[in-house]
Amino acid sequence: MEEKKVEYRCWNCKKILTFDVSTIGLICPYCGSRIFYKIRPSMPRHVKAK
Ligand SMILES: [Zn+2]
Repeated sequence: MEEKKVEYRCWNCKKILTFDVSTIGLICPYCGSRIFYKIRPSMPRHVKAK
């Protein structure tokens, strides 16, 4: 079973953190901030097929 990991950027220290989506109460381990920006995985619109 694949784990659902989501990347967040801490608004304060700008570090990229990866949390499990089931995690509740996210706290930045670096600065203790609880505010994060969710980072959407970059989905390339055009994939070069060989
Ligand atoms: Zn932080």
